[in-house]
Amino acid sequence: MKVLVIGSGYVGLVAAACFAEGGNWILGVDVDAAKVARLQKGECPIFEPGLEELFKKHLEAGNLTFSTDMKDGIAHADAAFICVGTPQSEDGSADLKFVLAVAAQIGQAMALRPKDAKPLIVVDKSTVPVGTAARVHAAIAAETDRAFEVVSNPEFLREGSALEDFLKPDRVVVGCQSNHAEAVMKALYAPFLEGPQRVDPKGGKWFRMDPASAEMTKYAANAMLALRISFMNEMARLAEAVGADIDHVKVAIGADHRIGPAFLNPGPGFGGSCFPKDLQALLRTGREHGEPLLTLSATVEANRQQKQVLLRKLKAHFGVKAGDPAPLKGKRFALWGLAFKANTDDTRESMAIELIDGLIALGSEVIVHDFEAMPPVRAKIGDRVIYAEDPMKAAKGADALLIATEWAQYKASDLEALGAALKAKVMFDGRNLFRPEAMAKAGWTYHSIGRGSVKP
Ligand code: NAD
Repeated sequence: MKVLVIGSGYVGLVAAACFAEGGNWILGVDVDAAKVARLQKGECPIFEPGLEELFKKHLEAGNLTFSTDMKDGIAHADAAFICVGTPQSEDGSADLKFVLAVAAQIGQAMALRPKDAKPLIVVDKSTVPVGTAARVHAAIAAETDRAFEVVSNPEFLREGSALEDFLKPDRVVVGCQSNHAEAVMKALYAPFLEGPQRVDPKGGKWFRMDPASAEMTKYAANAMLALRISFMNEMARLAEAVGADIDHVKVAIGADHRIGPAFLNPGPGFGGSCFPKDLQALLRTGREHGEPLLTLSATVEANRQQKQVLLRKLKAHFGVKAGDPAPLKGKRFALWGLAFKANTDDTRESMAIELIDGLIALGSEVIVHDFEAMPPVRAKIGDRVIYAEDPMKAAKGADALLIATEWAQYKASDLEALGAALKAKVMFDGRNLFRPEAMAKAGWTYHSIGRGSVKP
């Protein structure tokens, strides 16, 4: 099949490379000419495990190309995926300006399609509020009388394991109105769904529904996951207050099959390019329809507070008093992890950035390390912090270490060497990478999430 993938970010690039792997001819389109130039040279502009190899393989094979111009692609395509950003507007709603601009461009290019061509399947893969498929339809129809259908196909990939998620999905949700649209979508996804039963509309991993339900499914999934995180973060705070250990609580509740073990880790508050903006968009949709979403408002508020948790522990440890304008002047803190989670270079809404702001506001110096996310942070905040080449260099001479991202390499650190590099063996671990008893035994003052602080 001939497929256009419009938008070459985290979702668009992964979709383009994976659909190429599925045996299709793919044209990736982006407005960012510099990005397209890099892509054409085989340079992957983002870090995502395995993506560069897969995308280069198909670039070299010739079944994946990139352009800033979608016209030729539209003329011959079976399907066009819209994978552009849907950032948060000032009022919290999803800003659809990129999606609707692409829809209008698709509509204008439709004149190049042969009159007897099969309907173009235009797929909303961006995360968009209920009703967007209808708006995209109207935006295209305003420009053309050629046949097309708009399908909603929300994306559930997780940054850091995006290829695995795309190539072996838990489920594929397709909101469409015709059998032709479903057949095109099935042909594209069939290679990733093992066995014919998985594309059986009656079950398996294939979920056909109306576009509005598909649009809502994406938000409902993200809202449920965010709620789970905020719930566990609150339980962690309570565990500390009552002298319980959240690790024990977590595994024991996770053994209940109605709850399940995934997504129960407490942490320093969620961030990333999806949860914060998607929750705001869903809250907004609720308000617009007179259905306030109270659990979601609480999830957002709990997360706002959780993002202060490491700083609160640090202030308590160093005896910071209210009213002192620069209580940590002369202190230097090492911060490991800048991306909002491990295995990505994405720092959008990362709590590490809030932590940096907080530490600097208290007068301290911050030296940071991340395995992939230092370039985007440098682009965002420049020289407000010092960038270290490796984790040990960051720790050297620092008054304490803070951990914001759960990179496996941090967990595998030589704690003895780390303790020797720091001025004092003090750690604020937002990801519970170590066991408190072992840390105390090894001479550390160790603060983590939901397990009570320990001293040597
Ligand atoms: P991104 O910001 O990484 O990429 C978007 C790309 O679209 C950019 O390269 C931008 O230049 C391009 N673009 C903007 N306007 C364009 C136009 N008119 N024509 C062509 N290209 C254009 O965004 P992303 O993280 O890939 O997210 C895209 C969508 O997918 C969002 O709605 C997001 O919520 C959703 N989503 C993201 C993830 C994720 O983990 N990142 C997961 C699931 C769903």
